[in-house]
Amino acid sequence: MSRLLVIGIDSAEPMQIEEWIDHLPHMKQLYDVFYTRVESTVPPITIPAWLTAFSGLNPGHFGLYDLRYRLKRSYTKYGLYSYRLVEDVDFIWNAMSRKGFKVALCFVPGTYPPPKIKGYVISGFFTPNVGSSFTWPFRLKYEVLEAVGGADKYIIDIHDYRRMNPKLLYKALIDKVVHDFKVITHVLTKYEWDLAIAVLMSIDRAQHTLWRFFDREHPRYVKDPELEEGLLNIYRKIDEELGKLLEKLPKDVKVIVMSDHGAKRMHYRINVNEALAEEGLLKLKEKPEKPMPLGQLDKRGLIDWERTIAWSWGAYVAQVWINLEGREAKGCVRKEDYEDTCRQVADFLQSMEGPDGEKLRNKVFFKWEIYKGSKVEMMPDITVYFDDLHYGANEMIGFNSLYSLETLKGPDDSNHSERAIFMCNEKPSISIKNLEDVRKLLELLIETI
Ligand SMILES: [Zn+2]
Repeated sequence: MSRLLVIGIDSAEPMQIEEWIDHLPHMKQLYDVFYTRVESTVPPITIPAWLTAFSGLNPGHFGLYDLRYRLKRSYTKYGLYSYRLVEDVDFIWNAMSRKGFKVALCFVPGTYPPPKIKGYVISGFFTPNVGSSFTWPFRLKYEVLEAVGGADKYIIDIHDYRRMNPKLLYKALIDKVVHDFKVITHVLTKYEWDLAIAVLMSIDRAQHTLWRFFDREHPRYVKDPELEEGLLNIYRKIDEELGKLLEKLPKDVKVIVMSDHGAKRMHYRINVNEALAEEGLLKLKEKPEKPMPLGQLDKRGLIDWERTIAWSWGAYVAQVWINLEGREAKGCVRKEDYEDTCRQVADFLQSMEGPDGEKLRNKVFFKWEIYKGSKVEMMPDITVYFDDLHYGANEMIGFNSLYSLETLKGPDDSNHSERAIFMCNEKPSISIKNLEDVRKLLELLIETI
């Protein structure tokens, strides 16, 4: 009997995979049978992207556009993602469980607390700590900890990876790949499964810090022989470990390697709230003397919400809300003016230039054009990609400039890109254009096993 294994490489960029595929012999075997670029979600961010791939639903069904979400009627307060928010969504693992298939999920972003499916779950990077119940069934936790050599060796994520010394980070990420495959191999060789999904975060973590060491066009390119192939070597390690895993599995396993979005070098970030304030769309009672997060400004009562038209969240893309009457606590934009106001704000953001007056290829998306589902209301009114995502966004105010490199989370070498990879050792019977198409294909592949 055949089975389906999905290996997710979070943030694997099509351009890199296409350039480096000859260095990745095990992935190449899939690539040579079927490979395509796939459109990610708007925005191309981990949580909405993976949830969409595994549910087949537009992010408007979850009301999620990031790892956090804005609390209703609050301008800056947020909740953090948890699987509890999407428990009612029929993901592929729920549907397959119902049909009697056994499912194994390893480190799939968004699966904490672990769903109680017919099968096995090890939650991903949202796991709060090793003491938490991060597996289903619960007893699996002790096996997983043993597989990596004990609780003190278990790595949930690499902490503060944006600020880590790049050489130490590189080593930690190689170790993380080995660690993750120990867990994946344990589960997939000990237990029976029909569908297994395992997602690796190391490439995503690496790209935010190691991009400038291989991309000569990066504005902050650093020549360093030790790290020149750093990112490629992490891919090589994943490929090597994947090869070892496949050797232990039956020969007829159907294998997919895919990502949720890609990555590209980041030149700058646009300080979106600073720009909105300069344009008079966001009203400050007082300008902070040093860069300050929007939430902190709000807490200090420095924002005049009654006269504010729009404000923005987001670090990769700008997630802009309109201060709509009736919907927001101090809304001042009348309902009849909503769409016109959205267009005015979008026109302004679309026209933003680079620090030397360079023209940027900015793209705007309106909520009503791109989202569908029962939670569309929770999505930002406008999403902006600056310079085809070579520019990120920054919600902090007080730089005295429209451009910055550093956010609260630290500096970044790369932004997320709007395309993902998809390869499979069997040619799909349907076309795979975007992440919403993935769910259907997974079902078709499982039902023919
Ligand atoms: Zn991701």
